[in-house]
Amino acid sequence: MTQSYDIIVVGAGIVGAACAMECARGGLRTLVLDRGTVGGGTTAAGMGHLVVMDDSEAQFALTSFSRKLWREMRPQLPREVEFDATGTLWVAADDEEMAEVARKQKFYEERGVGVEVLNAQAVAKAEPNLRPGLAGGLRVPDDGVVYPPCGAQYFLEQAEKAGAELRTRVSVKTLLPEGGVELADGSRISAGRSVSATGPWSPELTPGLPVRKRKGHLVITERDPGFVHHQIVELGYLKSAHSAGKESVAFNIQPRITGQMLIGSSRQFDVETSAVDQHILNRMLQRAFAYLPGLKRLSAIRVWTGHRAATPDQLPLIGPSLVSEKIWLATGHEGLGITTSLGTGRLLADMLLGRQSEIDAAPFSPARFAKEVLAHE
Ligand SMILES: Cc1cc2nc3c(=O)[nH]c(=O)nc-3n(C[C@H](O)[C@H](O)[C@H](O)COP(=O)(O)OP(=O)(O)OC[C@H]3O[C@@H](n4cnc5c(N)ncnc54)[C@H](O)[C@@H]3O)c2cc1C
Repeated sequence: MTQSYDIIVVGAGIVGAACAMECARGGLRTLVLDRGTVGGGTTAAGMGHLVVMDDSEAQFALTSFSRKLWREMRPQLPREVEFDATGTLWVAADDEEMAEVARKQKFYEERGVGVEVLNAQAVAKAEPNLRPGLAGGLRVPDDGVVYPPCGAQYFLEQAEKAGAELRTRVSVKTLLPEGGVELADGSRISAGRSVSATGPWSPELTPGLPVRKRKGHLVITERDPGFVHHQIVELGYLKSAHSAGKESVAFNIQPRITGQMLIGSSRQFDVETSAVDQHILNRMLQRAFAYLPGLKRLSAIRVWTGHRAATPDQLPLIGPSLVSEKIWLATGHEGLGITTSLGTGRLLADMLLGRQSEIDAAPFSPARFAKEVLAHE
């Protein structure tokens, strides 16, 4: 056994980086290990939309708390993190989706989140490149956009300033029930506890964990500054994100600070390969063209895929695992891990340090899946 730490964070994606920053700032001797590079996993594939969501009270609590932490951090963020206060524009195609606008408005306003309902004319004025004839929309002005890998890099720099150590290109083979980890080369590093922040790969280190890979495609275009101004999401997106079916697509577009447009997104369960699937990519682009016909004249510069870490109830796993008190989890963030990284790090450190948390951590406890995990053993 080599040197001892209070905590070893496995995974230097944005979630592990936020956990390390919060742990180190809380005075814990922290080591971060990643078999790749900082932010090189799902974090490099994600879209970077910072968004308050309302699928459940717990999801709302974590996303709104996390968005608040991002906004507080904004003045310190370096340029490379590309924080852009675009807001979100949820667009409604018809009256049925306008009813969803009204529901969302009520939900957010009752909980103190600023929103603005737009009628058909106001949507057309806000985003002139949208196709004519949309019913309206909901603007959430305090949502934003970041560039995730540089976010992870910044959090880790803050962790290192607070005394944390980072080692990349180090693969962890086992999380030890007595604390610490065993590396792929057989050596061991001792620690009070380990935290698996290994995203879609987390079941490799904690077998039986109810985390499934959910593949997504993204396309980035050439530059056309001002083509859209908001992160625009179709309200049909909610149906897609909730669908338990094997594959779905929904229109979602983001203006980057570079003037490029980032177009999403697709969802496919149980597809291990990272190869681009032409059929699903075509479906995704046709959906985007239906909302923004002018997109057809922009060239696509790059297409890529990533795997979200999906849990059965669309909430992450944050806290001690069922395997051992010494093995903790910070995973299962599906399509919201960029947004919720900061809230996750704060909750995890609060639990480890015995501090009072600003939001209730209970809905994210891995213990809620006790039956599934025990059935696997
Ligand atoms: C197409 C797409 C679009 C998305 N859009 C958004 C969005 O707009 N907004 C949003 O909030 N979220 C979005 N997400 C989700 C977001 O990207 C993820 O939730 C987030 O990046 C997860 O971060 P992480 O740190 O948990 O995982 P990762 O970034 O995957 O990091 C896990 C790390 O663990 C390391 N690792 C794994 N196993 C081991 C091991 N045995 N030993 C050592 N290291 C190991 C890996 O190398 C990796 O670096 C999107 C995701 C996808 C795929």
